Amino acid sequence: MTMRYIPDTWRKLVAERAFFLCEYCLVHEDDTILTCPIDHVIPLKHGGLHLPENLAYSCVYCNRFKGTDIGTFLFSSHFTRFFNPRTDAWKSHFVLDGALFLPKTAIGEATIKILKINEVERVIERQELIEEGRYPHVNAQRFILT
Ligand SMILES: [Zn+2]
Repeated sequence: MTMRYIPDTWRKLVAERAFFLCEYCLVHEDDTILTCPIDHVIPLKHGGLHLPENLAYSCVYCNRFKGTDIGTFLFSSHFTRFFNPRTDAWKSHFVLDGALFLPKTAIGEATIKILKINEVERVIERQELIEEGRYPHVNAQRFILT
């Protein structure tokens, strides 16, 4: 990840715009050990802008596994971009089956795969949050339903 200074005003805007959820896996910032980093949806090295329109709230896991990638090869030579929280609707690409993410599209599948959203430790964490009534977070309804 390219480190670029993100003004506090932008950080606040991005966090509030995301309702304090990771815009990929929808975990709430209160349910993460560390604070949520700010993700450049299109990484700077790929020409993404250092502007709020290209920023997303993301948990440490999604942010780390996404890195500076923009997509992946799902099939032999079929490149598929990642889900873009700024231009795509979450519910168009993912559906929750309990703690498990199911893809609705190739974009969803590419994102789940590379961001390791269904990695067993993460599914267990979400399962524990479900049991505590904390996942999907009430703030996530707008992502899941609208
Ligand atoms: Zn996440």
